[in-house]
Amino acid sequence: DELGRLTDTINDMLGRLETLFQMQQRLVADVSHELRTPLTTIQGNLDLLRRGAADDPAMRVEALHAIGAETERMRRLVNDLLLLAQADAGLKLSLEPVELDTLLLDVYRQTSVMAGGVALRLGAEDQAMVQGDADRLRQLLLNLVVNALKYTPAGGEVTLGMQRNDGWVQVAVSDTGVGIAPDDLAHIFDRFYRADPSRARSGGFGLGLPIAQWIAQAHGGRIEVESELGKGSTFTVWLPEAGAEE
Ligand code: ADP
Repeated sequence: DELGRLTDTINDMLGRLETLFQMQQRLVADVSHELRTPLTTIQGNLDLLRRGAADDPAMRVEALHAIGAETERMRRLVNDLLLLAQADAGLKLSLEPVELDTLLLDVYRQTSVMAGGVALRLGAEDQAMVQGDADRLRQLLLNLVVNALKYTPAGGEVTLGMQRNDGWVQVAVSDTGVGIAPDDLAHIFDRFYRADPSRARSGGFGLGLPIAQWIAQAHGGRIEVESELGKGSTFTVWLPEAGAEE
């Protein structure tokens, strides 16, 4: 009856509020946790300097270096959080024609200097235009390529490729790295999720993929992942091709 339906609606609403509240609480806990580590390091090094390390050139350089690195880490975290907050608030990107193949080449050049012992290759590349925000698209590709390099041990390979496919542009970032376990695969786009806690040392916050996914979605696209533990991963970004609908 009427009252029963009203009760159901209210219960449903309360349930959703509860979930939102829990998500919010977890986010605050995660952010606080991530900020505490760099703050502790900065404080510790300031104490060292105050207690005399400032007079020893080598110790001074080391302490200042640590303070600088942790400050940079906090800056990145705050930037990432700000971007996600804007995404949540429904920020609309300003889209203009972007040559995606040129952008991918840029990202390739930018990341090849950090490849170390990993072979970074450019595979097949079609020319393609999308309606996009070039800075955000660069960030999306950078996040994927930097991850591929980060989770691929020396001697492995990372390949970037791009092809047009039936109104879509597909950018694929493939690596022969550590891969992702099936249980983790469902969560890697969750904020602050890191597949293996021991990899926290790799320095990431677990925000790179959520940001990449938001950017793809804000362009009307999506990201797909295929991965096998110990074999490697392929992240494929699908973006609507500009002018394809005409
Ligand atoms: P992080 O800053 O930890 O790299 P991301 O959001 O970019 O955060 O990625 C989330 C998690 O997904 C990573 O911690 C890692 O476990 C996993 N991951 C992402 N990309 C790869 C990849 N190319 N190979 C293996 N694991 C990956």
